[in-house]
Amino acid sequence: MQNDHETLAELADALRAMIAQGRRVVAFTGAGISTESGVPDFRTPGSPWMANKPIDFGEWMASEEARCEAWRRKFRMDDIYAGARPSTGHRALAKLVAEGKSPGIITQNIDGLHQAAGIPDDKVIELHGNGTYATCLSCGLRHELADVRRAFEATGQAPTCTACGGMVKSATISFGQAMPERAMGRARELALACDLFLAIGSSLVVYPAAGFPVLAKRNGARLVIINRERTDLDSFADLVIAGEIGDVLGPLAATH
Ligand code: NAD
Repeated sequence: MQNDHETLAELADALRAMIAQGRRVVAFTGAGISTESGVPDFRTPGSPWMANKPIDFGEWMASEEARCEAWRRKFRMDDIYAGARPSTGHRALAKLVAEGKSPGIITQNIDGLHQAAGIPDDKVIELHGNGTYATCLSCGLRHELADVRRAFEATGQAPTCTACGGMVKSATISFGQAMPERAMGRARELALACDLFLAIGSSLVVYPAAGFPVLAKRNGARLVIINRERTDLDSFADLVIAGEIGDVLGPLAATH
């Protein structure tokens, strides 16, 4: 259902009513929920994420130079959004989880801002991993980025695991890397168990992640899309709110 004739306030009221009626509300978030935190999204023109062709997983595994370039880019991006704090949207969703209205959030984001807004780790399902730490691809040991950066800047070489010598990578899922099975399974469970699914701040073009709104809707949940730009799934949704996430979720959070 398109909602071109309704005002943002009317659409926000409709959303509030749907949330009040919902028993299990699941939000699926994309990079758009973090722009109000100062983290640029991926597809808005001029995005620094698009400045270079992404290094895919095969290239990363095969080449020390690719790994070094990936770390240089990673630390550059981290410097851009160092100190980012949760947005109104993150806080609104944290409130839904805290109130027991939502069993968890599915996110494509890697910035850790849902957790920073107070959602427990086990209720944030990260489909594309987490960019706030690194892991060893061989033994799975977690490595803190400050240590990785120190080692990289001191040696100019891509850091290896202090425990097993394996390759250490930012804990994000690169293009060409297998999706995390457990997160995919949990996201599927949430999508199938909810009666209201909110897709927030995503262009809904990255698959398989963007399949979850479709799965939820086909399983009988109502689907709401909140995004400043139109998406390919708009005609499939029960409610589309083409506005700024903070404007839409801010007042709604305050009354919930
Ligand atoms: P995307 O950039 O493709 O789409 C973001 C959408 O949000 C756009 O349509 C944009 O118009 C909209 N938007 C931006 N700010 C908004 C606001 N304040 N209010 C309403 N709408 C707003 O992002 P995606 O769909 O998440 O796909 C990008 C991929 O890149 C993801 O897989 C993600 O892992 C990764 N990524 C993550 C981050 C992050 O963690 N914050 C940032 C950039 C990219």
